[in-house]
Amino acid sequence: MSFDLLQRAGVSSEILSSVLDNVGAYVYIKDLNGQYLYANQQTLRLFDITLQGLAGKTDGHFFDLERSRALRDNDVRVLKSGETLTTEEENILKSTGESRTFLSVKKPLRDETGDIIGMFGVSTDITERKMLEKQLRQQNELLQIVMDNVDSAIFMLDEYNNLLYANKQLAEQFKLQRVGPQHTPIASFVDENAYKELAEHNQFVFESAEKQAFRENVMGPDGEQRVFWSVKVPYVNEEQEKVIIGLSTDMTELFKLQEKLREQSTQDPMTGLYNRRFFMDFAEKTLAESERSRRTTSILLIDLDHFKQVNDEHGHPIGDMVLYEISRRIVKSLRRGDIAARVGGEEFAVLLPNTPLNAATEVANRICKLARMNPVKFPEDNHVTVTLSIGVAASAKSLQSFEGIYALADKYLYQAKRKGRDQVCAATPDDHPLP
Ligand code: GH3
Ligand code: MG
Ligand code: MG
Repeated sequence: MSFDLLQRAGVSSEILSSVLDNVGAYVYIKDLNGQYLYANQQTLRLFDITLQGLAGKTDGHFFDLERSRALRDNDVRVLKSGETLTTEEENILKSTGESRTFLSVKKPLRDETGDIIGMFGVSTDITERKMLEKQLRQQNELLQIVMDNVDSAIFMLDEYNNLLYANKQLAEQFKLQRVGPQHTPIASFVDENAYKELAEHNQFVFESAEKQAFRENVMGPDGEQRVFWSVKVPYVNEEQEKVIIGLSTDMTELFKLQEKLREQSTQDPMTGLYNRRFFMDFAEKTLAESERSRRTTSILLIDLDHFKQVNDEHGHPIGDMVLYEISRRIVKSLRRGDIAARVGGEEFAVLLPNTPLNAATEVANRICKLARMNPVKFPEDNHVTVTLSIGVAASAKSLQSFEGIYALADKYLYQAKRKGRDQVCAATPDDHPLP
């Protein structure tokens, strides 16, 4: 549409100039010498000048041209070669020293014969956008460095158990190709059992819509079972898709160590007595020793009577407390060198080195009485009396093996139960026939 047409339609040059004032960009016209012929309001505001004042001034008046090289070079190119340029210019304002980035379109102006008589330009201030882009780029780089160097797998999953993102650690551990726009189903790189477990966990995270943590077992590509501690966070992304952002740390070595420590431990955590494994090992060694030194070693096996009822009436935590209190009563009745252990849920064993059967039976009776006479107190003035059944056996010439003596004590424990509980039953000479 030519200007004539606009004029005929009643669009005056005032209207046109008001349009230019409102385009949200800097618009300007310069002659061949670089002197301004026109600038819209936005440009005038930037230069802090009126249109009359602007006439005849060049960019040197407003910009630090030494440090705004592109500005002059671009103008010269447009005026000399007649090209149209679309470029980014970083210009430094003389008045404030402030640097601003513009996206500029610069075009030559020609007269009727086609000769270049000047140029006009439209520049948009993109300083903020460039700054944001730079910040974003830096943040992305930082995030990338962290993600790839953290000692955990970091990943994003969709609702269908497809991997949308995997950091370097995860990709390397499971020998994954680059995870990109093509989603990788997790079923394609974890074993069947692991997949079932992971899918269940993921579903739970989506359903609960809350962060969850799990212990997860996954077989590595080398066939070795690995244990991960995984924290999974549900998230709705920009496309309104539900995803999980997860962080899994390989704890295999730590769990192995924990297991080893457990194996090496000698203590029952609930009562502080020795545990079953330690008791069995120690008793075996003691009996081998007592056989050499021709001394008698006795064993007591202690079982709480009707303990199920205690649990049923007072609850499991009180049951645990009772077990602890009974263990104290047992320890109180022993001498130095005697070994007490918790060998089952509510079963205890005592090893009495250098102790003949009658002395061991006395100890057993003491323990039995102590339990009967001292109810276990627990909160809110409640208490419960727990009685014990105890079987006693001792080594003899014809009975030296730990297994044999233990089995005999167990037999008499059973007899104590049968005879009505809350009593001690000890082996007799009949149990040790002379060879
Ligand atoms: P009995 O006189 O024949 O020994 O009867 P009981 O109820 O004691 O024996 P039973 O073997 O039928 O049950 C033992 C109960 O001890 C079952 C179990 O709930 C309880 N128990 C085992 N270990 C623990 C424990 O660590 N804590 C608690 N609170 N209860 C335990
Ligand atoms: Mg029992
Ligand atoms: Mg019992």
